[in-house]
Amino acid sequence: MCLDYIRRHLEEVSSDIYEAHGKSREVFKLPARPPKAEDGISCHLCLNECRLLEGDVSYCGLRGVEGGKLVGASAELGNVSWYHDPLPTNCVADCVSPLQLAEAVDEHTSCICWETNGSMQPALLKQAAELSLDSGGCIKFDLKAWDEGLHIALCGVSNKRTFENFRLLAGYIERRLSPPFLVASTLLIPGYVDREEVSEIATFISSLDASIPYALLAFHPDFLMADLPATSLHHAQECLEAAKAAGLKRVRLGNIHLPGNNY
Ligand code: SF4
Repeated sequence: MCLDYIRRHLEEVSSDIYEAHGKSREVFKLPARPPKAEDGISCHLCLNECRLLEGDVSYCGLRGVEGGKLVGASAELGNVSWYHDPLPTNCVADCVSPLQLAEAVDEHTSCICWETNGSMQPALLKQAAELSLDSGGCIKFDLKAWDEGLHIALCGVSNKRTFENFRLLAGYIERRLSPPFLVASTLLIPGYVDREEVSEIATFISSLDASIPYALLAFHPDFLMADLPATSLHHAQECLEAAKAAGLKRVRLGNIHLPGNNY
């Protein structure tokens, strides 16, 4: 399914898109769409707003209903995994200097950074923002696509909440300019996330604050998108130019070891 067709004829292709997402989720025993039982109990943690009955599996697979109550992730119980990353600023936020982060940390204090698709409930995002601001950490926000149909094709959900939440976070920037509190990134998926997508996203970021760092990340074919090539150098360069032309002052390419001359 090509980008132009998704952009122009979303209604015609949306059932195929949701079917493909449903198949990809089946492997993990996850429902194809967020459950919406009329008499279900609502979860408001993210944009999917599942309504669950006893025994239902939530869209994320992390929440359920037991004895008439929502269980799973809560203020007391998290679903987490972790690893020690010797480089505290990965490909998205390497504009944040490790030294700056180290200065924010002592033996009593951790530096709390988040990396998110931005689809959470705004009240939770505000709490995350306060934790990062207080601890010297940053929030790395994935802005995957500007076109809503393309976002649905890639992620299975709308991007409206993500852009609203990004706008909300931009309101916190003034409270700490260095190290940067908010960092944006976009993965340059060949054939899908093109110059036009990047230009629109960059224009949006720039309208909020042109100093927000923006990382354009080269794509590597993996998992269910193993049939695509890695991002080409030409593709990466034209997106970089588009982001700069939109007025952003801190744009850079990430995963620079990946791009080749595939297309
Ligand atoms: S956090 Fe999970 S259960 Fe809650 S709305 Fe989102 S997908 Fe559904």
